[in-house]
Amino acid sequence: MAHPHSLRDDERWRESAACRNFAAERFFPQGASGLAVEVIQAAKAVCRSCPVSGPCLQFAMETDQEAGIWGGTEEDERRRLRRAGRAAGRAARAGRATGAPAVPR
Ligand code: SF4
Repeated sequence: MAHPHSLRDDERWRESAACRNFAAERFFPQGASGLAVEVIQAAKAVCRSCPVSGPCLQFAMETDQEAGIWGGTEEDERRRLRRAGRAAGRAARAGRATGAPAVPR
């Protein structure tokens, strides 16, 4: 069963996407150097004006979207977010196991 706030099954947010009328290639550049840098920056600029960038990023994280620009992030940024999320989860579990606060004071 999906998380109550999961966006996996409810993609209505896409209807308000600022990128709806852009070609997919604008958000799925090949590589991350050379001309792709300009494509990535242009896509991120669109994301900054997008009213659903939060749900978009949440969807990308929930569904492990590895390629492309989602919610104003590129692949490396989402990988870092995933690592940070896993580390926070481990810290929270360790805190529960020892009774220590999950976040050091
Ligand atoms: S945040 Fe960016 S990629 Fe996501 S829907 Fe909006 S414009 Fe499209």
